Amino acid sequence: MEKLVVITGASSGIGAAIAKLMVEKGHPVLLLSRRVDEMEKLGLKNSLCKSVDVCDLGAVKTAIEEAEKAYGKVDLLVNSAGVMLLDNPYEQDFAEWEQMIDVNIKGILTGTNIVLKDMVKRNEGTIINISSIAGRKTFDTHSVYCGTKFAVHAITESMRKEVSASNVRFIVISPGVVETPLLSHTSNDNIKSNYNEWKKTIEGGLDASKIAECVSFAYHQPQGVCIREIVIAKTKQAD
Ligand code: NDP
Repeated sequence: MEKLVVITGASSGIGAAIAKLMVEKGHPVLLLSRRVDEMEKLGLKNSLCKSVDVCDLGAVKTAIEEAEKAYGKVDLLVNSAGVMLLDNPYEQDFAEWEQMIDVNIKGILTGTNIVLKDMVKRNEGTIINISSIAGRKTFDTHSVYCGTKFAVHAITESMRKEVSASNVRFIVISPGVVETPLLSHTSNDNIKSNYNEWKKTIEGGLDASKIAECVSFAYHQPQGVCIREIVIAKTKQAD
């Protein structure tokens, strides 16, 4: 039997695509997000779906312990849960900044804190964080979102270096635009429609399955090979 994979943000978009591919590849999978019905609708065999807020360390821990009892130790954690709330910084509510900081930064740290100590002891394991091209350079109306993704890059690279001697891998995947409901949570309708108009000029975003293939490619290398980062976008996406 293949080893246990844990995926946050598995109810939608990129996380759901990764969950499907990992089950196809024979892995037992723990799917985590708040909407358990959406995860169950995927109908994946050999999997557990648990409703958690990724910022809630206790809830993530309980779910991971239950999955480990059923399937053995976590070998791969993919942190895909995230929110992108675009706005002009002089108009945006503080609550939206806070939500992005909580989900996009604290949300990658809960699962990491739970699995990393044991991975280091076992001298194996992989953590893949889904960042963004917005974690490499800034874009207008993205200021706090970019801040959170720059943080994901910094934390991933820093932890990678610090655990490298134990053979544990940290990998960051940095997509450009992907066709998912991510933008739909932005409350500024003007910014949302401008973004959708721009997306038409590049004939839409990547299919989420392309990001899942990147995760699988990086993860299924031998443990001694670490693909540190993959940056992937539509060819027509210039920035
Ligand atoms: P979706 O909106 O499709 O998925 C976001 C996921 O995050 C959902 O499963 C949602 O589940 C989960 N989530 C949000 N808040 C919480 C929370 N508090 N606790 C648990 N889960 C939560 O977006 P994508 O699939 O596109 O986004 C996935 C990742 O990819 C994000 O980190 C995003 O920043 C990144 N990304 C996306 C790009 C794109 O163009 N789509 C481009 C570059 C990076 P639920 O609501 O059920 O809790």
